Amino acid sequence: MITSHPAPELLLDHVNGQLPPAVALVIDTHLELCWACRAAVAEIEVLGGALLESLSPVAVSQDLLDSTLAKLGTQDAVQLERGALTRRATVAANRAPRTLTPLVGKDYERLTWNRIVEGVEEARVPLTDSTHRVTLLRARRGSRFPFHDHAGNEYLAVLEGGFCCNDRPFVKGDFASCETSESHGLTMDTHDACLCLLVLDGPLLFPAAEDTALNEVFRL
Ligand SMILES: [Zn+2]
Repeated sequence: MITSHPAPELLLDHVNGQLPPAVALVIDTHLELCWACRAAVAEIEVLGGALLESLSPVAVSQDLLDSTLAKLGTQDAVQLERGALTRRATVAANRAPRTLTPLVGKDYERLTWNRIVEGVEEARVPLTDSTHRVTLLRARRGSRFPFHDHAGNEYLAVLEGGFCCNDRPFVKGDFASCETSESHGLTMDTHDACLCLLVLDGPLLFPAAEDTALNEVFRL
């Protein structure tokens, strides 16, 4: 079951078109897998439309905002959309989400995989966004992605299997993000295989002596 979602502010920025293409891609990929966030986005869109309709030459009062929000709670459109969203099929196993198929193919067949560490491979996703590293990470059961710091933000969507991070499990559909100065390693010991979409806007920094070569790999 999906338990980790993007922060509401991130969904709001996404709806408003304020995210860079790479971050929008990982949010869209999570949305394809997560009906709850699709419903949240639908509500944000209805709220945005309602507020626009309410705009008058004077500033929007708190009363007007409150009444608009109250109306939204009973909006048939939102309820219908939420019902439709729950009925939509989820992404089949080992098939790329629709958000990624133009870039990687339906079965990830267009990718070239490079070994990172034992049991972990990475493939570049050919998205035109020079400010971000956009890759797929594939890991065998029992493997480990080494402990690292972040010199930027990390965004991740789990596409298959799962992993553990600081004793917290993440499974298919989960979204995770990490900010500068946060540190973690990932262990893949509870699922057969793990596939993740990973987006970075800064290098990963590997402090362990045995991992120093990875600092070159993840320069961005
Ligand atoms: Zn979600």
